[in-house]
Amino acid sequence: MQEFKHWIGGKPVDPHSAEWIDKVAPATAQRIGRLARGDATDVARAVDAARAALAGPWKDCGDEERASLCDRIASGIEARSDELARLESEDTGKPLSLARAVDIPRAVSNFRFFASALRQREESFHHMGTAFSYTLRRPLGVVALITPWNLPLYLLSWKAAPALAMGNAIVAKPSELTPRSASVLASIFNEAGAPAGVFNLVHGYGPEAGQALVEHPDVAGVSFTGGTKTGAQVAATAASSFKKLSLELGGKNPSVVFADCDFDTTVDGVARAAFLNQGQICLCGSRILVERPLVERFTAALVERAKAMRIGDPSDADTNLGALISQEHRQRVESYIALARDEGGKILCGGGRPELAAPFCDGAFVEPTVVGGLPIDCRTATEEIFGPMATIHAFEGEKEAVEMANSVRYGLSASVWTQDLERAHRVAAVLEAGLVWVNCWLVRDLRVPFGGVKESGVGREGGRWSLEFFSEAKSVCVKAG
Ligand code: NAD
Repeated sequence: MQEFKHWIGGKPVDPHSAEWIDKVAPATAQRIGRLARGDATDVARAVDAARAALAGPWKDCGDEERASLCDRIASGIEARSDELARLESEDTGKPLSLARAVDIPRAVSNFRFFASALRQREESFHHMGTAFSYTLRRPLGVVALITPWNLPLYLLSWKAAPALAMGNAIVAKPSELTPRSASVLASIFNEAGAPAGVFNLVHGYGPEAGQALVEHPDVAGVSFTGGTKTGAQVAATAASSFKKLSLELGGKNPSVVFADCDFDTTVDGVARAAFLNQGQICLCGSRILVERPLVERFTAALVERAKAMRIGDPSDADTNLGALISQEHRQRVESYIALARDEGGKILCGGGRPELAAPFCDGAFVEPTVVGGLPIDCRTATEEIFGPMATIHAFEGEKEAVEMANSVRYGLSASVWTQDLERAHRVAAVLEAGLVWVNCWLVRDLRVPFGGVKESGVGREGGRWSLEFFSEAKSVCVKAG
């Protein structure tokens, strides 16, 4: 039985309350460990450790030293990638092959990328004749990184790497459902030579540890990824103390399929966008909009792809879909399948639990589900479900496609599938989303801004946007001689 303590001031620390949270593997429903149940006292200790680090030699660490530290952390993750992939798969229920191919390599890339971005960073300089100005970027100080369970290490590293590169001290609060890769990351920071207190970790529930962290007066910035409702609570808490805030929130993303698309590539891409990680990626395309002449053929092919997906043992190399994160989340997804029926939808495939042998018979599995026949404005088609469930809708022409795509309160991402590139550019420009893919999905260039519009978030991270978020600009104006 493994135990996951907080990590404060460079070492593992027991919870102040002496209380622990059981960690259950979603694929087997078996208890696999316990994690510290953090509270405001634990948070205060972590923030104190972070402040002490900022007052020590860390504050004089130059760009090259911090970039080298990021590189060493990347190498540390790489060296333990088999172990990390296994932990990530057990914690989340996702296929081990997915954790190996996506989660862990992308965590390595995040640290390598921000090491390189720091080395290549340029400061601005403006000359106005009588005076010149230059801009310094200073760390924010103590930053809170709050992350969800769907891509635990990947999303934590996405925030920790730029926060570290810019010289901040970190207090991380990972999801209580997926604590283990964050604990390993803390020891990797240590082994890589990060000074004690530069990376602190407080485990625990959001309304307890997370809330206390956002409330703490010595936390200067909060980078939050999670649900829209939680994001609103975090924003309200942070507002009264004017903390710098970045919010990466939920989505209900459209895959817009035009009749002139490359059919096979599009079916594969749209199926992947709907079901990868059991549909539990904020960027998943859960609303599939198809131009009417193609809708029957496309739906038949998509349903065939979904039915062919292998679901079960996450460690089996042939498994396409693993378990959902928890029994509670499965019930939530199933409640939407029932709602879809009530709203007049037809379950075209899936809709139930697969029959699996022990030890997976009690796991939180749901079959990949495609629903047709629903109005575009019903709850099933407009609310974030975050599971292996997609709705399919027909549209007539470009104008209606855009209206339907934009008709939800979210605006994180979209994908457009067409061979007419002029149309692709036209549609991409008017879609209300922070990120639009054309004829692809989930391709990530770390240099580009990432974030949502409407209720999908506030602010941008990625590339220079992350470096800017995790620092404050200071202008220095000097009279010219
Ligand atoms: P969640 O909002 O329930 O939890 C996210 C994190 O916030 C967890 O660590 C949780 O413990 C913490 N938290 C909860 N209440 C808090 C509070 N009052 N104060 C501070 N922290 C608190 O989200 P989840 O269920 O873990 O993740 C799924 C959601 O995340 C989905 O909505 C998904 O779309 C979203 N998501 C968004 C992105 C993105 O980049 N936009 C990426 C991944 C996931």
